[in-house]
Order: sequence, then C-alpha cells, then structure tokens
Amino acid sequence: MKHAKWQQIALERIYRLFELAQQELEKHPQRSKRYVNIALEISKKARARIPDELKTSYCKSCHAYLADGKNADVKKIGRITFVKCRGCGFERKTGRKRGGSEKNGHN
Ligand SMILES: [Zn+2]
Repeated sequence: MKHAKWQQIALERIYRLFELAQQELEKHPQRSKRYVNIALEISKKARARIPDELKTSYCKSCHAYLADGKNADVKKIGRITFVKCRGCGFERKTGRKRGGSEKNGHN
C-alpha cells in the first residue's frame, strides 16, 4: 500500500480525535488531553503532519486541547497567531500566508 494512503487515514483519525477532544474539553479535560496525545502519536507514526488549522488547537507543551476564551487566549496580529495555554502558560506563535496557492493538488 502506498505511504500516502496511510497518511490520509492518519489525517482522518487526527481530525476525528481533535473533534472528540473539543467535545470532551469542558466535561472531561483529561480525556480531552488524551485524545490530543493519541492524535499526536498517530501523526508521528504515520509521519502525517498535523494540519495547520489544528496546530493552534492544542498546546505543544502540555498537549491540552485549546479553545479560545475557555482555556486559551488567541490573538492575531497580522498573519501571526499567538495562542496561549491557560493550563501551563505556554505560548506558541504560528504564522503562515493564507489564501495563496496552499491548496493540495496541482496548480
Ligand atoms: Zn499547555
């Protein structure tokens, strides 16, 4: 089987796990964290990168699922997004051009 196929499967799982992490965040924060951990493990094993849109959705330090206004503070300055985890205080900065030729496939 092609490696790309595994990555596709892995990506789908990662998205699903982040969805679950989001759903469980309020009632079961520990379980939520666990989902993020599993997603990160899958990402490593399948060598599938965490999609950019999810990169600001978890804390790189404590692996908590981050929701703006709940357990994280998100602010955007220009193209840079700052995400601060209220759990451990870790702040990460992501920035990338949007709306360019970033789509998958061919131009
Ligand atoms: Zn954290």
